[in-house]
Amino acid sequence: MGNATPLPLYAIGLGSNRRHARFGDPRAILLAALAALESDDIEPVDASPIIASDPIGPSRRRYANAVALVASPLSPPAMLARLHAIEAAFGRRTGQRWSTRTLDLDILLWSEGAWADAALTVPHPAMTERAFVLGPLRAIAPEWRHPTLGRSIRQLAARLVRAKPVDRRAHPL
Ligand code: ATP
Ligand code: MG
Ligand code: MG
Repeated sequence: MGNATPLPLYAIGLGSNRRHARFGDPRAILLAALAALESDDIEPVDASPIIASDPIGPSRRRYANAVALVASPLSPPAMLARLHAIEAAFGRRTGQRWSTRTLDLDILLWSEGAWADAALTVPHPAMTERAFVLGPLRAIAPEWRHPTLGRSIRQLAARLVRAKPVDRRAHPL
């Protein structure tokens, strides 16, 4: 049966900088998390290569990062709740932001546009400053247009590469 109306798309950012007793190193954790995303109402569409990136914040461990595209009718808050449940299933403890963590799942983009409430901001406010987000995202969705900035991922990634060091210090995230 054909689908007359395509489902909304989400871009989900995945990160890990800690081993998991069962799944292993951060790269293996991301592969397992990509599989865990699939469900009755979350359909995997594409996934970027997994990259290694330097840490942000207080932790000194390197990260594995990737971006997944999924199709889903879930609202952004419902999607966030699902992502939190998966993080918890991978043993992530709530606590310090940017600390060592088994798994971080963030909503980067939603094809229906922007969303903002007390618990959730989409597009993810820091994505335009993060090479570990824009690099993997460009690999799978270069033409996706940021809904409030009006620029494609390809343009945003190019702009980040061109940014002068002084700009990066002013916006470290
Ligand atoms: P950062 O958001 O800078 O990547 P983080 O991912 O380490 O930091 P978390 O500790 O995972 O931060 O999340 C803190 C809270 O951020 C979440 O509980 C959630 O309510 C909120 N949040 C706001 N916008 C988003 C989003 N787009 N995706 C995921 N969480 C979000
Ligand atoms: Mg994050
Ligand atoms: Mg997060």
